[in-house]
Amino acid sequence: MFSEEDFLPISALQHFIFCPRQCALIYLEKAWEENILTAEGGIMHDKAHEERVETRGGASIERGMFLRSDKLGLIGKADVVEFRREARRQLPFPIEYKHGRPKENNCDKVQLCAQALCLEEMFEVRIPTGALFYGKTRHRLDVEFTEVLRGETLLAIRKLREFLIAGATPLPHYTKKCESCSLITLCMPKVIGQGETVARYIQKAVSEQ
Ligand code: SF4
Repeated sequence: MFSEEDFLPISALQHFIFCPRQCALIYLEKAWEENILTAEGGIMHDKAHEERVETRGGASIERGMFLRSDKLGLIGKADVVEFRREARRQLPFPIEYKHGRPKENNCDKVQLCAQALCLEEMFEVRIPTGALFYGKTRHRLDVEFTEVLRGETLLAIRKLREFLIAGATPLPHYTKKCESCSLITLCMPKVIGQGETVARYIQKAVSEQ
């Protein structure tokens, strides 16, 4: 069992898999920078949370639902949870909204799976599937919570906990994904990590003025 201060935010898992340095900058160094992608993403999440509860086609839909797993030490919020009637019970079906497009790694699927694990504990059910909705491509991707994805999610939770306890921010490594990262100006991946320190970079910039 975890004490309250040891609970991890589910969203940190997504940041951790997307880029451990991004996760460290947000959760260890408390840096957050709004860019057009995060601003538009925020609007999508706000819209997803506008009306908290509604009923549609026999399913009740809850928006902005708080999630918690005491076993895994996780807390978070689901954009949307549909409660679908199945064999005399309501089965939760989590849906997460993303501004962009599907990513090359599994960070969004792991985040959704972590939401499902919380819902399973909260409602004592087994949840087979959920969905990711991508604003850029207007595409809904159904996600099956396979044993492989569940295993990957549990491993990511353990690694994230160790990573945050260790408390060290990794050096950046510039890749294509940096161009859509909200922290690129703080992170300076093209400067730091290529044999140049921030201090030396600033000193050089000042001397060139
Ligand atoms: S700019 Fe790149 S290396 Fe830096 S935090 Fe973002 S994704 Fe990670």
